[in-house]
Amino acid sequence: MSLSDIQSAIENKEATLGSVHLIAVSKVQPVERVIDVLKQGHRVFGENKVQEAAGKWPDLREQFSGVELHLIGPLQTNKTRQAMQLFDVIHTLDRPKLARTIARISTETGACPRLFIQVNTGEEPQKAGILPADTDAFITECRALGLQIEGLMCIPPADEEPSLHFALLAKIAARNNLPELSMGMSSDFERAIAQGATYVRVGSAIFGERNYS
Ligand SMILES: *Cc1c(COP(=O)(O)O)cnc(C)c1O
Repeated sequence: MSLSDIQSAIENKEATLGSVHLIAVSKVQPVERVIDVLKQGHRVFGENKVQEAAGKWPDLREQFSGVELHLIGPLQTNKTRQAMQLFDVIHTLDRPKLARTIARISTETGACPRLFIQVNTGEEPQKAGILPADTDAFITECRALGLQIEGLMCIPPADEEPSLHFALLAKIAARNNLPELSMGMSSDFERAIAQGATYVRVGSAIFGERNYS
């Protein structure tokens, strides 16, 4: 597939649904591939590591204007300040300590990225995210700290039908008046859109397989 294939697959779905934003997940990809997608006019990208993003995006932002960068991987508290400088949107707010740190730094600097809360819909011990049963209280806690939460994000368990997880995330968002849903990857973004995704995070279907070696 290519960037334009993914864009038309999204547009086909959008005819009947709301607007869906495509985050091109560029983690691990060679920078030439990223530049190729930038040259096609795409500007919304996702990275899962602060260090890796810091190594490539400041240069790319100088070459291409209007880039919007999304953090979609876990954020260590000691990297919060750097992440808040690098990223326009953080999808992985997942614990009270991180919420307090973001609130403190944004009060100090007067700037705060857009925020999504990650929900561990599959209640997997190895996965980050707030448990579904704790999410309403965590949203309230974040709002009390002055944080403006835009939406929720999830990564369904690899071996389960993702639509059930997408539907659960949509339900929690709706009852908390959160308009945005970050869900769906290369293998399931069309199912996520059917459940109300407003941001899909697509990597390998756009850039090709990641080579970790
Ligand atoms: C890597 C990653 C993606 C993209 O995965 P693909 O299967 O390559 O589309 C999406 N979301 C998160 C959180 C990721 O870490």
